[in-house]
Amino acid sequence: MRALLKRYRQSIALHLLLIIFGLYFLVAVLVTVVQLYKEYENTKKEFYDEIQTLPATFGKGISDSVWTYNQELLQSILQGMYNLPIVVGVKINSLDHKMDIQVGAVFNQQNQVEYYDSKGLATEQKLTGLGANALFAHEFPIYYQGPAFSQDIPLGTVTLYSNDQLVFERVKYGFILILINSVIKTFVLWFIIYFFINKHLGKPLKEFTLKISQQNSKFPQAIDLAINWTDKNELLILKDSYNQMIERVNKHQHELLELNQVLDEKVKARTRDLELAKESAELLAYSDPLTQLSNRRAFFDYGEQLLEQAYRQQNSLSLIMVDIDNFKNLNDTYGHALGDQALVAFATTLKNNLRSTDIIARLGGEEFAIMLSNLGEDNAINIAETLRLKVSQIELEHEQLSIQFTASFGVVESLPGSSNIDSLLAQADTALYFSKQHGRNKVTAYSTIANTTTINSVN
Ligand code: GH3
Ligand code: MG
Ligand code: MG
Repeated sequence: MRALLKRYRQSIALHLLLIIFGLYFLVAVLVTVVQLYKEYENTKKEFYDEIQTLPATFGKGISDSVWTYNQELLQSILQGMYNLPIVVGVKINSLDHKMDIQVGAVFNQQNQVEYYDSKGLATEQKLTGLGANALFAHEFPIYYQGPAFSQDIPLGTVTLYSNDQLVFERVKYGFILILINSVIKTFVLWFIIYFFINKHLGKPLKEFTLKISQQNSKFPQAIDLAINWTDKNELLILKDSYNQMIERVNKHQHELLELNQVLDEKVKARTRDLELAKESAELLAYSDPLTQLSNRRAFFDYGEQLLEQAYRQQNSLSLIMVDIDNFKNLNDTYGHALGDQALVAFATTLKNNLRSTDIIARLGGEEFAIMLSNLGEDNAINIAETLRLKVSQIELEHEQLSIQFTASFGVVESLPGSSNIDSLLAQADTALYFSKQHGRNKVTAYSTIANTTTINSVN
């Protein structure tokens, strides 16, 4: 029952049909009831008319038998009338009451129904259904018309009783037929219409909704809905507009995806730019723009690492400080541009004659520092000597003049565990100062002057 109700609530076809045919059935029943009533009225009238023809048929026989006091004849005539299908009772009242007799259902003096058998004796109730209340009567007088009398002599009255029950019985059958007819018609029509509404509306709708529910929500596709008897009805129009909507949604999605890709590429490009900018910023922060050597900051960072590494691995490490001689003069005499040229050439010479693992840095102005890993003082002095020579061989051109310059060097080897970069630099600077003091264009090892008490502490 619940399943049936659920089906009803979920099906347009069922719902429509129940409403339509419920109303239709109601109207059909109403019409049938009206029809029955009319039929009933007509039949009753027919009965009445028929009863009214009976006096003409039986009147003569009755008056003769009453006149002659022929009880037997009267009884058989009454029995004949009683046997008619429209008669349920007959009653004769003769004036002298000698021939009074009643058969079947009749009214008594008090208008109550009484029942008599064919001999005129009171008996049990026989009428059922509409019963006594539906009894109706027709009374007619009886006269004797004999050739000896010029006038009709009244003998009494005959009352014929009929019953609505009989009327109803007669129309009942027709009514039942009509009712069955409309019930069958209703149900047959109901099934026919249900079948076709379901076939042409319910099922395609169900198919449509199923296909929609099975759509991939990210990439919905156009739905195909074939209805074989048409290529254009409301459902197909609905389907078409759904498909158009899907197309628009997909297009929109596609545009969004493309936009996303463009944005993605832009972000990537921007990220690349940022990385490059970061790299060049780092390069700028760690390198000297004129000579492309490491700057002071880089020297301290990398130098610290090298120093730690050497300490860990118990390796030797040396530091050389270099300062171009009389650079102020060079600048003043030939101009700042040539000074720059000299700085670049000097840096190139250092790079060309050192290992890539060595740190070469411009600490400021014309002052440079070199850190050599895995090298002791002797080797470092040799390298400084080579560099001193190479620098002195640099030739710069200025207005057809060949200009040369020199540099002074201070060398120091780090003592494992006891050195930090500041103290090393200070020692190298001391050695460099010594070179400057002793004629420039020289290499001085800190170890050779460390014990000399005559060193002036400068910086
Ligand atoms: P010393 O032999 O004692 O080192 O004498 P110096 O003249 O080399 O030393 P000083 O410290 O007196 O002069 C350094 C000069 O270097 C001063 C400055 O004009 C010049 N200088 C510093 N940085 C630059 C630079 O980037 N480019 C140029 N062209 N000159 C610079
Ligand atoms: Mg100098
Ligand atoms: Mg200087």
